[in-house]
Amino acid sequence: MTDFLDYLETESGQPISRCFQCKKCSGGCPVSAYSDIKAHQAVRLGQLGREEELISAPLVWYCIGCKTCQTRCPNGIDISAILDVIKGQVLANRGMPGKPLPAFHESFLASVKRHGRVYELGMVIGYKWRVKRWTEDKELGLKMFAKGKLSLLPHRVSGRRQVRELFQLHKVRGEING
Ligand code: SF4
Ligand code: SF4
Repeated sequence: MTDFLDYLETESGQPISRCFQCKKCSGGCPVSAYSDIKAHQAVRLGQLGREEELISAPLVWYCIGCKTCQTRCPNGIDISAILDVIKGQVLANRGMPGKPLPAFHESFLASVKRHGRVYELGMVIGYKWRVKRWTEDKELGLKMFAKGKLSLLPHRVSGRRQVRELFQLHKVRGEING
């Protein structure tokens, strides 16, 4: 067993070494079509200790945590839990500054933490600031604004304090950054 596999199994609580590559997870994964590697391949990279390849895989950021993989897996492996460990590692080390997927993820979480739910315009500005791509998707943004999809001000929601406490709790546990 590699050190990386040992670390991943401990942190995610998933029996990664039991995976026998049946691919049932990837067969049901809703983001398979959009990612360069599939769910079962992510598990294999973990087994082989190929940390760098796993860290750079878009699947880490595309995974929506639906747990279909876990439901289908004969070993009950929750791949989203494994990918969450990688995500936390990348964000904690600021290992991918300016990369679109981690930057989007960070901007989304920062917006939810601040406003209790996502404030779309603020999130877009935060994302643009992180990736320094100010003019990309300009036309799309203007269209959304014209259709009222991007409000100028954040929506007021109740329970913002509880949401912040939730973030604080996860930060203490080292699960998220910021
Ligand atoms: S379903 Fe489970 S055992 Fe099969 S490839 Fe996926 S993680 Fe491995
Ligand atoms: S939890 Fe993630 S990896 Fe598992 S099926 Fe859903 S999107 Fe795919």
